[in-house]
Amino acid sequence: MLKGKSALITGSTSGIGLSIARHLAAQGCNIMLNGFGDPVVIEQKRTAIEKEFNVRASYHGADMSKLAEISDMMNAATQQFNNIDILVNNVGTQHTAPVDQFPVEKWDLILSLNLSSAFHTIRHALPMMKQNGWGRIINTASVHGLVASVNKAAYVAAKHGLVGLTKVVALETAGQGITCNAFCPGWTHTELIEPQIMTRASEVGGAFEDGVRSLLSEKQPSKQLVKVEQLAQLVVFLCSGAADQITGVSIPVDGGWTAQ
Ligand code: NAD
Repeated sequence: MLKGKSALITGSTSGIGLSIARHLAAQGCNIMLNGFGDPVVIEQKRTAIEKEFNVRASYHGADMSKLAEISDMMNAATQQFNNIDILVNNVGTQHTAPVDQFPVEKWDLILSLNLSSAFHTIRHALPMMKQNGWGRIINTASVHGLVASVNKAAYVAAKHGLVGLTKVVALETAGQGITCNAFCPGWTHTELIEPQIMTRASEVGGAFEDGVRSLLSEKQPSKQLVKVEQLAQLVVFLCSGAADQITGVSIPVDGGWTAQ
């Protein structure tokens, strides 16, 4: 069904983005990866996708906080694949501090990466999608796109903004074969959160699983981490024909966090 489509996934050299890239490749999509990391390791991940799934996979190292680099990446993807059929705005970063002590440069970075980068990729990709009469835009938001937590002013503001952008793009593209949706993960098992879990595990004097239970008991009723594969499978579903009429929604995948 998705065979031969092209997919650009921002922030896809690790974690949720890499899993989305691999799952879309498994459906036959050609992939453009983006993100930071050791060039040798990134090249291994890129070639693994090509070999395992028999698709084309390329990589662009655009810093998603820099407008000129985003434009360069969008042009490169368009030249390479003729199209961008599926756009996953996944890049994101976090910093925690009380709002009156929040470093201004961190505020600017979080807003540019977690929100503005999606505006820029979408405005580049939409004319092609409109011309083709088909497109999928999927934004990685967060439970923090729906509810707030202390010390996360920039992240919560950016992710709420991303949920709002998702709705506007959905309305402006409705009936044109294009959908725009977001998904909103709770605590998800990526390398990013392992240090926080290990710190908590040592505080409660237990193992990794005890750290998970303690950390998640504050917010995530299931007390279980979301798996990156579960998010990636949701993205594949949102790209399918079954999801043609799903647009403008932000789907929580949070073990009950936002049901409270
Ligand atoms: P991650 O750190 O594994 O992934 C982040 C990706 O973004 C990496 O590929 C990294 O290289 C890339 N990146 C960072 N700065 C960049 C920049 N300036 N330019 C280009 N690429 C850059 O983290 P993750 O947990 O997989 O997070 C992915 C998304 O999921 C983020 O938007 C995050 O806010 C969201 N999210 C994560 C969780 C969680 O618990 N892990 C929960 C909710 C939402």
